[in-house]
Amino acid sequence: MGRRVAVVGAGYAGMAAAVSLAERGIPVTVFESGPLPGGRARRVTLQGQTLDNGQHILVGAYEELFRLMRTVGVSSDALLRIPLEVRYAKGFAFRPLWLPAPLGLLAGLLAAKGIPFRERLGALRFMRALRRRGFDMPEDMTVGALLEAHGQAGFVGRYLWAPLCVSALNTPVHRASAKAFLTVLRETLGGPAGASDLLLPRVDLSRLFPEPAAEFVARRGGEVRVRSAIGDLREMKDFDAVIVAVGPHQLKTLLPDLALDYSYQPIYTCYLQYADTVRLPFPMLGLAGGVVQWVFDRGALLGERGRLACVISAQGGHQEMTLEELAERCHGELAAAIPGLATPLWSRAIAEKRATVTCSPGAPRPPVVWNGVFLAGDYTDPLYPPTLEAAVRSGVRAASAVVESLRHEARNFEAVS
Ligand SMILES: Cc1cc2nc3c(=O)[nH]c(=O)nc-3n(C[C@H](O)[C@H](O)[C@H](O)COP(=O)(O)OP(=O)(O)OC[C@H]3O[C@@H](n4cnc5c(N)ncnc54)[C@H](O)[C@@H]3O)c2cc1C
Repeated sequence: MGRRVAVVGAGYAGMAAAVSLAERGIPVTVFESGPLPGGRARRVTLQGQTLDNGQHILVGAYEELFRLMRTVGVSSDALLRIPLEVRYAKGFAFRPLWLPAPLGLLAGLLAAKGIPFRERLGALRFMRALRRRGFDMPEDMTVGALLEAHGQAGFVGRYLWAPLCVSALNTPVHRASAKAFLTVLRETLGGPAGASDLLLPRVDLSRLFPEPAAEFVARRGGEVRVRSAIGDLREMKDFDAVIVAVGPHQLKTLLPDLALDYSYQPIYTCYLQYADTVRLPFPMLGLAGGVVQWVFDRGALLGERGRLACVISAQGGHQEMTLEELAERCHGELAAAIPGLATPLWSRAIAEKRATVTCSPGAPRPPVVWNGVFLAGDYTDPLYPPTLEAAVRSGVRAASAVVESLRHEARNFEAVS
């Protein structure tokens, strides 16, 4: 099929769409306003340091992303796979065991350290109740209300469900959609063995998929044009179809009539560079009681020895601090958890203020095709929360819709000629 398709935006959604089209032999041109592909998951250079715009975590259930990574030739070494561990520097530890679902989860809950036995049993009953209803929930319920209704708001709520919710939905429990949260639980904790594993990037986020994807597209006769902002979709009139794969807050310029009213949640990542002998006991640890939620050992992951990345997802009091104050606070919290930690050599904090849309009950989900334009992006998935997996699924979906529409047009053309 020799038709030409344009994709606007080279984030994970746009590149997934481009790869899906290139795989089918359709020439594709991707326009990206930034200097490199990746969007909200990309490599950045900040005051002389090469970093990611934010530490990312993938889970075993991200099947579409892993399939596309294989397609474009990304080696499996690019990710470190570890069984899901919610392990805190002090106190609580939960780890589903290597048993077929749901036995691994049940055994993990029974063995969890740091929560009263009564609450562990309550958590098992909660999972059983969710499973019985097929992990489905009314559209209008929040995760907070769900946890309250099932007596899950105590220790287990604080150390297990709330961190899982904030990590998966980037939305605090009192605003988060129970339906989206249960979709994630069904696909991870309730899914096949390995679905709840954590996969931590061992290469930067642009190398993890978008750049190899751009190379794949180029090998198949397509093109990714960086530093090419599209100001008006009328510039695209030479293309047979256009996929708009920009972030939700960037839609207004291109599609001013598509009225989607979102609120947004931030994610802050604070990198602290210590002496290169500093290591965590585990590549990813939880911290409780302060602002830092997770800390990652970038030395163990990417060979950036002595570098720790602190992650603070979703809205909170930390947004009142300057980035310098936040870096100091992160160091203070790490020093309280890691005995003998000296002052960092340098720090860089990155605030992504619109990291994702708020994944709340009733958040608008646009159609795949709107006024003849195909839409892709993490915010468009009908069920999944705004994540890398939602982004690539949306790209694949938009590409399939384009192929279907081009075939339909070709059939109509043949019929009239
Ligand atoms: C700090 C941070 C941490 C995160 N952590 C995780 C995590 O741990 N796990 C997870 O799964 N997800 C995480 N996410 C979410 C994930 O990064 C996003 O869901 C995903 O990257 C969204 O991809 P996208 O392609 O839909 O949109 P984007 O990445 O926003 O891509 C849109 C692209 O369009 C380009 N563009 C915009 N307007 C134009 C225009 N007019 N012309 C040309 N180009 C244009 C932009 O420059 C951008 O490259 C995190 C996000 C952030 C910010």
